[in-house]
Amino acid sequence: MHATMMNFPLTITHLLERAARYSPRREIVSRRHDRSLHRTTWSEVRDRSCRLAHALEKLGVGRGDRVASLAWNHSRHLELYLGVPSMGAVLHTLNLRLHPTELAYIARHAGDKVIVVDETLLPLLAKFIDHVPCVEQVIVLRETDAPLPDRYYDYEALLAPEAPHYDWPALDENAAAMICYTSGTTGNPKGVVYSHRSTVLHTLVECMADTFGVAERDVVLPVVPMFHAAAWGLPFAAAATGAKLVFPGPHLDALSITELMAAERVTLAAGVPTIWLGILALLDQDPKRFDLSTVRAMVIGGAAAPAAMIHGFRARHGLDVVHAWGMTETNPLGSVAKVKHAFEDQGDEVTLPIRASQGYASVFVETRHVDDRGNVLPWDGVQMGELEVRGPWVASSYLAGEGTDRFTADGWFKTGDVVTIDAEGYLRITDRAKDVVKSGGEWISSVALENALMSHPAVLEAAVFAGRHEKWDERPLAAVVLKPGRSATREELIEHIAPSFAKFWMPDEVIFLEQIPRTSTGKFLKTKLRELYGDLLLNR
Ligand code: AMP
Repeated sequence: MHATMMNFPLTITHLLERAARYSPRREIVSRRHDRSLHRTTWSEVRDRSCRLAHALEKLGVGRGDRVASLAWNHSRHLELYLGVPSMGAVLHTLNLRLHPTELAYIARHAGDKVIVVDETLLPLLAKFIDHVPCVEQVIVLRETDAPLPDRYYDYEALLAPEAPHYDWPALDENAAAMICYTSGTTGNPKGVVYSHRSTVLHTLVECMADTFGVAERDVVLPVVPMFHAAAWGLPFAAAATGAKLVFPGPHLDALSITELMAAERVTLAAGVPTIWLGILALLDQDPKRFDLSTVRAMVIGGAAAPAAMIHGFRARHGLDVVHAWGMTETNPLGSVAKVKHAFEDQGDEVTLPIRASQGYASVFVETRHVDDRGNVLPWDGVQMGELEVRGPWVASSYLAGEGTDRFTADGWFKTGDVVTIDAEGYLRITDRAKDVVKSGGEWISSVALENALMSHPAVLEAAVFAGRHEKWDERPLAAVVLKPGRSATREELIEHIAPSFAKFWMPDEVIFLEQIPRTSTGKFLKTKLRELYGDLLLNR
């Protein structure tokens, strides 16, 4: 066989060098802890990534060594994203919302050698660092002149004397680049190792018009934390294209984000639904207060974006939501809810359910869904089964060979999401497999009920979960948070949703709460709801 094309490796190094070469002056803006804005450029980020690589090397970091970050979204975290993998080491992003015991477990499990930590997160680090003996050095991203703990390094002092050039090693594209742990609500979190290749391929697809269409002219604001699934790959997509990046630092409240979007002329912002619910409420209060005319897409994922929110943004504020589905295990983008050409000109009744679906798979991601016995189900939009995926940025295993039961013998990853798939390939998540409500043997979609409840004008958020029941085994219960100053009764809410569902789907009880318990990445924590209210129907 003749040789075909060059075997050119797909590496993060190329993205870093490219950004600096083609977009050297394009800005990276970060909000500091004290709320002031820090500005740098792709050229400086590259130079500092080189200095970082030298500094880490002197501290003994070599190929395959794990360097952990415990940090908010900012340009120094971006330097870690690009510099650490480019030198052949592996960046492990620690989720700063986890309990110290979990952080200690994860850092030990990954065998982290160095931890780079925000100054403001030193109190959190202090709670678990003694339980992670593998960590040899701690490097602090300072924002003040406060003295450092003994033996801790100052990031800037380490970088200052180093050369702004680094002879990057030739890397195998299948080498590890990053490690992210799942935010599992049951059992220990499991590590997913992203390769250079998976990251680069995912990046290219993220720049396609039918996904997020990230382009050079974009101003990208990742609200999604950099510790969660590589901030959905957006820092890499910005590097590949030379887009401007805007980082919110620790200020993730609706007002701070909205101000930043307006001030920096953001075109694309991405985060979980909770953030956007807050922003929608803020805009509704005073629609003229912010100029968001540059915003072309708000990417929402990580949990279901309620149809009422998607509709509200467009109808009341002319803002487009792009709903996407993904997982830590899919590095992370799997599908995007773009309206296909055939449906484009149809009314809201057709397009809104499409935009609120989990979308259809991106190129190179393949999907199927299977029933309890493992039979592959038809794409009829009706039959519910567990979603399985495969593709070049889907995990082939977990770190240390854990969780083998999530991978099928014929090469698919079991997502744990229960879905329908329609004839066009649109996925609709009806539940997490473990959250499904099974009443008298019939599956009830908690997600469908939540969406319906959240379309009531007084409802801010709703979570439906399984309550134990003597006769039916399980019955749906709804936990509801009302909007400030609004009221609604249980009967009104049930009446509101009743027309859309079979009678046996109606929640047996509505529990009004101040807030719904959440996981560290902002998803409803239904295990907690079940723990607190799961027996409500038993003792009646
Ligand atoms: P994580 O690995 O923490 O990103 O969690 C992945 C899980 O989040 C998926 O398996 C889904 O259950 C959920 N998820 C992500 N995106 C969406 C979405 N757009 N709609 C509904 N659930 C989602």
